[in-house]
Amino acid sequence: MESETRNCQNCKNQFTIEPDDFEFCKKVNVPTPTFCPDCRLQRRLSFRNERILYKRACDLCKKEVISVYHPGGENTVYCQQCWYSDGWDPLEHGKEYDFSKPFFEQFQELSKAVARPSLINSNSVNSEYTHLAADSKDCYLLFESSNNERCNHSYWMQQSKDCLDCAFVNNSELCYETFVAWNCYKVFFSKECRDCTDGYFLQDCVGLTNCYGCVGLRQKQYHIFNKPYSKEEYFKVLEEKKQQIKDGKVAELVQEFKDFVAGQINKYASIQKSVNSTGNYLLNTKNCISCFHGYEAENCKYGYHVWRNSKDNMDVCTVGRDAEMVYEATNCGVGAYNIKFSNQSWGGNSDLTYCDACQGSSNLFGCVSLRSKNYCILNKQYTKEEYEALVPKIIEHMKSTGEYGEFFPTKLSLFSYNETSAQDHFPLSKEQALAQGFLWKDQEEKNVTIGGDILACAHEGKCTDHCTIGFKVIKAELDFYEKMQLPIPKLCPNCRHYARLAQRNPLKLWHRQCMCDKSHPQHAGKCPNEFETSYAPDRKEIIYCEQCYQAEVV
Ligand SMILES: [Zn+2]
Ligand SMILES: [Zn+2]
Ligand SMILES: [Zn+2]
Ligand SMILES: [Zn+2]
Ligand SMILES: [Zn+2]
Repeated sequence: MESETRNCQNCKNQFTIEPDDFEFCKKVNVPTPTFCPDCRLQRRLSFRNERILYKRACDLCKKEVISVYHPGGENTVYCQQCWYSDGWDPLEHGKEYDFSKPFFEQFQELSKAVARPSLINSNSVNSEYTHLAADSKDCYLLFESSNNERCNHSYWMQQSKDCLDCAFVNNSELCYETFVAWNCYKVFFSKECRDCTDGYFLQDCVGLTNCYGCVGLRQKQYHIFNKPYSKEEYFKVLEEKKQQIKDGKVAELVQEFKDFVAGQINKYASIQKSVNSTGNYLLNTKNCISCFHGYEAENCKYGYHVWRNSKDNMDVCTVGRDAEMVYEATNCGVGAYNIKFSNQSWGGNSDLTYCDACQGSSNLFGCVSLRSKNYCILNKQYTKEEYEALVPKIIEHMKSTGEYGEFFPTKLSLFSYNETSAQDHFPLSKEQALAQGFLWKDQEEKNVTIGGDILACAHEGKCTDHCTIGFKVIKAELDFYEKMQLPIPKLCPNCRHYARLAQRNPLKLWHRQCMCDKSHPQHAGKCPNEFETSYAPDRKEIIYCEQCYQAEVV
């Protein structure tokens, strides 16, 4: 099969459907996409409010709860206790499919009526302020994460303990201000590291112990700014640096490290131990193409967050923990099989199409908030035979209306564009968002009184929308700073989060050539190697291919 160039139905730009896209669509039996990969990602993310929390009342027990759904919204929201209870029946809202109306119109009606859980933090202990999280213990303001203990103010963490202000950190302990890491212990102010212990300001390092300010090093100890030191000298310098950190001179040290990094060579992508994979921030992946933030994943394409045995998935956001054959879905992991066009349906689902917030179910079409149900359409129960006869007719109907094969249209999102992570990756102004058919939520007046235990955020210039202006430091944080000899941060947790995210390259790839013109055995003159990189061509950094990078790193 050959590739085909099309114009995106949404942005009108050209995009290519590759032979493996055709193959995948054939395998899961769906039409090929009409949106370009970027617009598909943006549409999916516009359904995900990751970390904006509100206080509101549960629509059933009326108690005040923390929720990602703002009070006064059009949809029904139950606290988790109510949502998981037998005190209500989501099948009550079941509707007969109406062939005279578009499917999405019918789904939207159901979607507004059926209660969503206020937050998703399944099987968690003492972790009320966590969302899109599972199996957390004693965690606070932790998002998009699973199997963590005592991780606070962090984002996309897996199987980690006692971490603070981290993002994309896995199997790690006692890390702080670290961004993309695996198997790290006591690593601070670092990014893209693996198997490191006792490190400060490290970037793209593997297997380091006791190092400060290093870039691209492998299996070293007692190094400072990539130079070897004796153990005694190392600790002498480290003590001075630690004193500076303790004295709150973190910004100066960050700048010093940035200046050092600026002169270093960068690998075209942070991809380690992976076979035939493109994208960024990948470890142990095989045949993962255009994937970002993935590990232990195989045969995935256009995946954003694919991890822990994620297999044969395309166009997915946060689909991991034994998820297989998932297409156009967001937050559909944990033992998921054959899920299409679905949202936030975690835990043991199979054969779902156009579903939202369903769990432990199979053979559902267009359903909302069902648990342990089979053979339902628009929350109405059918027999297996009825279900199998009706679904193909609905698909035919949806093909005639141009709906089948598309993820939910953005106007069905229960969130405003600027509440969702779509805004993080595809930022729009209010005017642009409204013109493109997204909802927008105006900022509420922030009446914050600084004083007592409310500290002022030191965000410079005009505070952005996400700055909370004032912030509290929780006990667990204070204990951490004291134990790790760290100062209390000057920025509010939101400003810290966005500063961390700003270090990340875009979720986008450009085709470029290696910039190496050194004499390396594999090339004479300029290196001819080409690659897909998330460093845009106009960036200042020096970008090398894998071989040239390997030849240079020590
Ligand atoms: Zn597009
Ligand atoms: Zn309730
Ligand atoms: Zn702030
Ligand atoms: Zn090269
Ligand atoms: Zn070279």
